[in-house]
Formats: sequence, C-alpha cells, structure tokens
Amino acid sequence: MYFDPLYLLIAAPFFILGIWAQFRVKSAYARGSKIRSRAGLSGGQVARAILDRNDMRAVSVEVSEGMLSDHYDPKAKVVRLSRGVYQGTDLAALGIAAHEVGHAIQDRTNYQMLAVRNAAVPMANIGSQMSWIVFFVGLFLSSSAPFLGKGIMWAGVGLFAMVVFFQMVNLPVEFDASNRAKAILVSDRFIGEDELPAVKKVLSAAAMTYVAATLTSVATLVYFILKAQGDRR
Ligand SMILES: [Zn+2]
Repeated sequence: MYFDPLYLLIAAPFFILGIWAQFRVKSAYARGSKIRSRAGLSGGQVARAILDRNDMRAVSVEVSEGMLSDHYDPKAKVVRLSRGVYQGTDLAALGIAAHEVGHAIQDRTNYQMLAVRNAAVPMANIGSQMSWIVFFVGLFLSSSAPFLGKGIMWAGVGLFAMVVFFQMVNLPVEFDASNRAKAILVSDRFIGEDELPAVKKVLSAAAMTYVAATLTSVATLVYFILKAQGDRR
C-alpha cells in the first residue's frame, strides 16, 4: 500500500477537525433530541406545514431509512426525513426537518447557488471516482515516462478539483438552508425564541462537518498539486 508522510502532514489537521465535527454533530443531536418542543409538532408535521404555507403542496414528505439520512431530492421533489426526525417532536428533529425544507424552498425560488451545486454533482461524482486512480497511475508512470506520467497526474488534479469545486459551492447552499430553517421556525411560531439556541447548535454542528470535509479536500488538492509539480526542490 502506497503511503506518503507528506499527505499526512498536509491533511491530518483537517482529518482531526472532521472527526471532531462528527463527534459534535452526534452530541448536539443527542442533546437536542432530548428537548421536546413546546408546540409539540413532529418534524414531519412541521415540514408539511412549512411546505403548505409556501404553496408547495406538490413537494411530498417521506420517511427514509437510516440515521441522519435526511435530504431533499430535487428530482423527485421529495423531502426525505429519517424516522427519528420525521416522528420526533424534539428541537433537533424540527431543526433538521426545517433545514431540508429550506433546500426545497431554494429549489422552488431558483436559488442560484443550488442550481450551480446541482450542475456540479455529475462532474464531482466522476472526479471522486476517478481522480485518485488517474493520479496514481500517472505517478507510477512518471518514473519511466516522465512527460506522460506528469500529464496523467495533472489530469488527476483536474478531476479532483471538480470535487473541491462541488464542496465549495455546497457550503453557501447548506448555510442558506439552515438560515432559512431558523428564521421560519421562529417567525411561523413552530418554536419560541428561547428554543432557538438548541436548534442552532444542531445546525451549526452539521455545517461544521461540511466545512471540515471541504478543508480536507482542499488539503488533498494541495498535496496532489505539490506531487504533480515534482520533487525538484
Ligand atoms: Zn442540507
């Protein structure tokens, strides 16, 4: 197995940040899911109510299997909530449900960054599947055929750059969905002002995992670029 200490040096801080962020999400969710909201509505009910109030009856709300598998499907126009969020009447559930509806509202209002993100998905998928293989084939070849090898390595860099691009345009989309969620939950009186901090904690912890993942891939891209430039130091 190929292993390069240079990669560890560049990426390790962000790996650790990522693990820490995952840990924070779990603990913020565990804490938030113990606080029942005063209004007593479930995540599923709140999602439905927000959609209806925004004239979005065509968007359905479904249960998805798997913990924290919550997402909005822009193709099927479905908000899918994990069982705990769908049925839960706690503040963590309401925050996550409203966040996913926030994505549906972004879709409905043609929020531009969402369109950019969705357009970047296919390229990012190709990039994440191919970049490492292409890059290391290039690295392998570069000792016997330097010119060809370098060319292939740079192709790998380009492929991985598409992953980084996706993650960067994903960040404002995620922050925007959370901001919408917090504003709607309070303004539509699903929660009181005093219940907002617990919701905020869950949503910021989730956002932090996206930030950590983005920083990790930026670090990986930097590593790829340094390797592709070669060892002429
Ligand atoms: Zn989201």
